Formats: sequence, structure tokens, C-alpha cells
Amino acid sequence: MSLIVQKYGGTSVGSPERIKHVARRVARWQRQGHQVVVVVSAMSGETNRLVALAKEIQSQPDPREFDVMLATGEQVTIALLAMALMDMGVSARSYTGGQVRILTDSAYTKARIMRIDEDRIRADLARNQVVIVAGFQGVDEAGNITTLGRGGSDTTGVALAAALKADECQIYTDVDGVYTTDPRIVPEARRLKSITFEEMLEMASLGSKVLQIRSVEFAGKYNVRLRVLSSFEEEGEGTLITFEEDEKMEHASISGIAFNRDEAKITILGVPDRPGIAYQILGPIGDANIDVDMIVQNVGHDGLTDVSFTVHRNDYQKALKILEPIQKHIKAREIVSGDKIAKVSVVGVGMRSHAGIASTMFRTLAEEGINIQMISTSEIKISVVIDEKYLELAVRVLHKAFGLEQPAR
Ligand code: ADP
Ligand code: ASP
Ligand code: MG
Repeated sequence: MSLIVQKYGGTSVGSPERIKHVARRVARWQRQGHQVVVVVSAMSGETNRLVALAKEIQSQPDPREFDVMLATGEQVTIALLAMALMDMGVSARSYTGGQVRILTDSAYTKARIMRIDEDRIRADLARNQVVIVAGFQGVDEAGNITTLGRGGSDTTGVALAAALKADECQIYTDVDGVYTTDPRIVPEARRLKSITFEEMLEMASLGSKVLQIRSVEFAGKYNVRLRVLSSFEEEGEGTLITFEEDEKMEHASISGIAFNRDEAKITILGVPDRPGIAYQILGPIGDANIDVDMIVQNVGHDGLTDVSFTVHRNDYQKALKILEPIQKHIKAREIVSGDKIAKVSVVGVGMRSHAGIASTMFRTLAEEGINIQMISTSEIKISVVIDEKYLELAVRVLHKAFGLEQPAR
């Protein structure tokens, strides 16, 4: 007998029919003799609806109250799924994050899971019950409801699998695995049978929202066997996140292409080129809790240089406000900025042993007349910032250039 944690995303529980469908799948696993813990998201569109609702009342919603409200979406689906299971004669119980006691820190809207009390879940499983847990939420030491950031139900699933030492964590979604890139942008994208944990971590951090980055971090830290599968198909092995570079794995130089439109770019022109300047500019940005992603400083000229960096679009206006007085203080010439940019990244452990990946990437973009504004690299990825309007074209041509399409049959 094995213990399985299954997580179903918003589309997978988007209607009463879909919820009944999930119940049938869960019942099947249980009938086969497995212990099953199920994590569900809010019905598709519900979290967005709640966000919009709050903003109609308060343009910057109070974070504590925002979380009290956001957590309701998942509370609806856990109860509905429990009812659907009971209706099929399967005994089931649902719990909110606070009831399980998924203990988090107090960082509302992006809380981190610190501990999970598993006793209640284990006791229910021992009584042959299916346990259903609300994704995306927890409770802090003081008992306040917290949420884990968008896409956070993935993290609930993996964290529960880690706490319960589950045999596998299955993430059921609306695609049948992790693809070479988002199949909504490139229909020829190919499902990967497996992807290394390191690559998945890069893909998630670079914008592939098929898994929330923190869920991948948890899987890595606690060695959780993690699989992404479709809730819409009966068969299929999905994509396994592996910890070793398997001999049998497709030996491609690049495994996937990730992208995101969530960043904005800020450039400070004519900055005096002297020690301490980067700190004077980026120190206050960091102090304001704004994450900086790419940073580029040009070679100095006549004692002056230019500094560019990117921040999340949500922090863009806040960053500009912080920089205005700094620009005056350090006597920099001007600030130019824009949020119509996008970041495209190629990812693959094969990059370590294949030369020429960067030149293929740059040549491919050049042939389409796409200008590269910024570049950053790590051992297994190369990212470029380009004009947002070329994003889809860039992803498509790179996907082709690296031979990632479906093999012809
Ligand atoms: P859920 O509601 O089940 O959590 P999400 O919308 O969060 O589902 O994630 C699934 C979506 O992720 C897919 O529909 C797909 O458009 C997108 N996606 C982005 N990159 C990838 C990728 N490399 N492989 C598969 N799906 C991807
Ligand atoms: N319902 C939350 C969201 O839409 C959490 C999740 O679906 O993972 O972000
Ligand atoms: Mg998701």
C-alpha cells in the first residue's frame, strides 16, 4: 500500500462535473488500495474574481483581510469534493489549511510553510478516509489566515507529501506534463518524459507557471517524488521530476524554453563611475523589499556609466519613486524605463557539455530582427530581455532552432 498526495488545479475542479470527475479518479486510487490525500485549488477564475472584488473596495487591499478573503476559494472546493466522494460511498473529510495546521510565517499573500501537523491526517487515513486539504493557505503562530502566493496549491501538495513521506506527489493539471515550452504559445511543444529537478527549478523561476517555484524547492529539499499529469486524460505517465541526470534521458542541449512578461526595466543614464554607486542605487531598492533580477552596468566613459536593472512589474512604480531623489543626489543624467519588456530563457543541463548554445540563441533572434536588451547566464540557462511585442515570435523561433518540436511520426 502506498500513500499518494494528489493536487488538482483550478481548471481540474472548475465545474460540478469536473469535481465529480476528480472524485471518481480519487476513488479509483483508493479502491486500488492506496491511501490518498487530495489538495485542491479554488475553481478556475475564482481567485482572480476575489482579487478584483477586493480591489473594488480598497485599491491596495489590507494584506491580512486580503488573505482572509482569498482563502475562501479553496474552502469551497474541498467541501464540494468531499460531498462528491461521499455520494459515491467513499468516506472523506475536508480540512482548511488552518484546521490541519499548516503553520506558515506571517508574510501575508506570500507566506512560507514552516511546519505541518500531520497527526489528524494520519488518523483519518488509518480509518480509511480520503483526506482533502485546501491548497494555497495556512495559518501563522497567532492564528491569522495566510496565503502562499499565486499558484501556491502546488506547494501545499508537495509540502504535505514531504511531511507525510508520501510515495509520490501527483500534480494534476490541464496539460499532460511539463512541455518543452508553454504549449499555448507553441502548439508543436513536446511533453518531456522527465526533467531534472535543477531544470524544473530554473523553468519555474523563469516563468513556467506549470509548477510554483516553491513547490519545486520543497521537492528538492525533501526528496519528494514529483509528477505532473493531466486530470483530463485517463492514461498517461505525465512528467517525472528526477533527481539524477538519467542515462536514458534525451540528451538534448536544451530541455525547454521559459518566458515571462512580469518584469519592467529601469536604466539610469550618466551615472558617475565611482566606487559605491551600485550600492547607492540598489541599496534603497533592496531595503524597500523589491527584488532585482537582471543588472547590467556599462563600461564607463569619461567618468560616467549607465546602470540598468529589472524588477517585477508590481514593484515598478514603487522603484521609480525611490530612484527619483537618488538620481538627483548622485547627479545622474536621467532615468529611462519601461514595462513593455519580456524575458525569454533557454534552459538545459546539457548546456554544460554543449558549446555554442549562446551563439545559436543570439543568431536566431538576430535573424528575426529581434534586439536583445539585456543578457544573463547561469550554468544551465541563458536569459535575454527583449521588447514584449516579439515575445511569442522569439519563443517559437528558438523552439525550432534548438530542435525541440515534436518528432515527425
Ligand atoms: P493549475 O490551475 O492546474 O495549477 P496552471 O495554469 O497553474 O494550472 O498551470 C498549467 C499551465 O501552465 C498550462 O495550461 C500551460 O499553459 C502553462 N505552462 C507554462 N509553461 C509550461 C510548460 N513548460 N509545460 C506545460 N505547461 C506550461
Ligand atoms: N487559487 C490560487 C491561485 O489561483 C492557488 C492555486 O491555484 O494554486 O493562485
Ligand atoms: Mg497552478
